[in-house]
Amino acid sequence: MSDPASRPVPPTAVSAVQAQALDRGELPPVEEVRHGVWSIAFPFGDGDFSLGYLIEGSDGALTLIDPGWADDANLDRLEAALREIEHSMADIALVAVTHLHADHLGGADAVRRASGARIALHASEQRALDERTADAAAADADIARWGAPADDEEALVASWGSGRHLPRVTADLLLADGDELPIAGRRLRAVHTPGHTAGHLCFVEPEQRLIFTGDHVLPRINPGIGLGGRADGNPLDDYLASLGRVIALDVSGADALEVCPGHEYRFVGLAERAQALVDHRAARSADAAAALDSLAGARESPTDADTTVASASDAGTTHAGTTDPSATDAGTTDASLDRPTVWQVAERMSWTGGIASLHGYRLGSALAQTEWHVQALGRLGELRPSS
Ligand SMILES: [Zn+2]
Repeated sequence: MSDPASRPVPPTAVSAVQAQALDRGELPPVEEVRHGVWSIAFPFGDGDFSLGYLIEGSDGALTLIDPGWADDANLDRLEAALREIEHSMADIALVAVTHLHADHLGGADAVRRASGARIALHASEQRALDERTADAAAADADIARWGAPADDEEALVASWGSGRHLPRVTADLLLADGDELPIAGRRLRAVHTPGHTAGHLCFVEPEQRLIFTGDHVLPRINPGIGLGGRADGNPLDDYLASLGRVIALDVSGADALEVCPGHEYRFVGLAERAQALVDHRAARSADAAAALDSLAGARESPTDADTTVASASDAGTTHAGTTDPSATDAGTTDASLDRPTVWQVAERMSWTGGIASLHGYRLGSALAQTEWHVQALGRLGELRPSS
């Protein structure tokens, strides 16, 4: 999922083949990344593809990072790739998944059935998969509060709320930050990078100067945030901290990490790209702040003075702990229902094509991200609480 806005210069592709394929709308071929490491593209949707990686241990067993979308054609594609690198399905011993999205985790169960491999993912991703029903109910409540146009609500519930589809998978191995994957002769370590989803993992192999970043850092796309299970805190804060983590892992010069992302193409310049994503988020927060300022300005110079009601009942809203400007600014008497909805903030922010062009999952993502940016600004109290 992308969150359009600023577009910095993309980082340098290491794989010209993948970058060209992306530009031409073609599927890139299987490529050898290092001795015993290969990339494989899995198509999904309307011309998109995700990137998976096959990694060979010293015992000949294979680990597959991100098996792609659940699709029989992708299983055939994997079998063909395995033949090409002189392996077979039975050699896959481990399917390691960066995060729970269907274009990464979707094919895991089919690969497990075909190969006998174990599936490994972060414990928070398993929790999100297990708690999908409770999470969906909470997402429906979010949608009701956001105040999107009535025409959009049905599609929002279908794709972002209780109608949302997640793969049904139970992992064999739950990973935590710092865990090494069980691959003979290799030291491939899980790095917990919450933000895009709560249990997102990158995998780093310093000896090979490789990092597998899933959707945490992509060369051109600005990854969306909070697109997994419900996080305990603000996914924006998590995401910024996780970008800091990978910036700290990178080194400059000849030892720079080669980034093996979940989409697009391999590249170098991890720290610069991650910093560009930090800057992008700062710009989105500034955009949200400007939208809140303009809405507050409109309320402070009302054209219709007879509708305001004292706000004594506001103190117990669900956003306890955040600054409520109506409680500290003695000059205003806005009732909570006069405060803007998330939708009204979002429609004053910039979105590629405008907010009206976004529907369903993309609109849900846009509205959720708007709310998290407002929260990160400490200004949730300026929004209309749930009724
Ligand atoms: Zn994703």
